[in-house]
Amino acid sequence: MVKSLITLENEAKKALNGAKNLKELDGFFRVYLGKKGEITLLLKSLTKLTAQERKKQGKGINVLKGKIQQLFKDKTQELKQEEISSNAKGDWLDISIPGIKIKQGNLHPLTQVQRRAQDIFRSMGFAVVKGPEVESEWYNFDALNMPPDHPAREMWDTFWLKQKKRSINTKENFLLRTHTSPLQVRYMQQHNPPLRIIAPGRVFRYEATDANHQINFYQLEGLMIGKNVSVANFRAMIQEFYEKFFSKKIAIRLRPSYFPFTEPSFEVDMTCLVCNGKKCKSCGHSGFMEMMGAGMVHPNVFRAAGYNPKNWQGFAFGMGIDRLAMMKYKVEDIRLFYGKDMRFLTQF
Ligand SMILES: [Zn+2]
Repeated sequence: MVKSLITLENEAKKALNGAKNLKELDGFFRVYLGKKGEITLLLKSLTKLTAQERKKQGKGINVLKGKIQQLFKDKTQELKQEEISSNAKGDWLDISIPGIKIKQGNLHPLTQVQRRAQDIFRSMGFAVVKGPEVESEWYNFDALNMPPDHPAREMWDTFWLKQKKRSINTKENFLLRTHTSPLQVRYMQQHNPPLRIIAPGRVFRYEATDANHQINFYQLEGLMIGKNVSVANFRAMIQEFYEKFFSKKIAIRLRPSYFPFTEPSFEVDMTCLVCNGKKCKSCGHSGFMEMMGAGMVHPNVFRAAGYNPKNWQGFAFGMGIDRLAMMKYKVEDIRLFYGKDMRFLTQF
């Protein structure tokens, strides 16, 4: 025997203590406990001894083997633990941290305003109807009492569709609608009175963009036709609408105005929301703000739609959804609604 068991034990313990990782432990196993390891070889060498000596030596070697196996097992456990915790340091999972919140989008402020307005009108018995954004000249102008030579057409300069790009065979001119009023005639042609509708939608104007103007914006058209529908009905209805929409008590004022498709026509003013009617700079010290145009449907519009103006009467109105939104949220620049600034758009 080359080495004494004590020397071997000390060497093995030293090697084991020096092992820094599981790979080094594998090396240790090969050197001491493996098939050709020192202890295995010692046991094998016993065959060369006499029975008596074999018994004496064998016991000592087996005790040593047991000791080293136990130490090896302990060290393996220890290194495994270390490895697990050092791996975890780079990829630490703290299960007490709240989860990542899923970002939920929100509706565009103009959509929200439009839907709120629709809800209020629906509660008053109005149906919501929609129509085409590309409109014929007849529906956009002629049917609304604006024949080709009517000066009022110049109020609404717009985008005309090029003749050669037309796919349908017609002599009619088409344009991007300048207002939602064509829906009045379109709806009346297909329905019998009495009726109450609103028609929200996008309209277009050929004009320069500034804080109050866009080349496209949103309008909400309204129409109520019956045997005895009057301006008084309109006034009550619109006051109810504004009070519900702005959730506060307000006053309404009608001023005479002119629109080709209504007679009489009027502008509708509402209590200034900035000063609550106490007169301020925003409302030009009048205490009122201009909200929309309205009037009693012109007999020529009834005729265009195929109604007899002697049998029916009613009011029509058109309000800007953008304007409603600007008032409700106190936004001073219409362009913000059409920009892509999420900091603005996600506030609503
Ligand atoms: Zn004011």
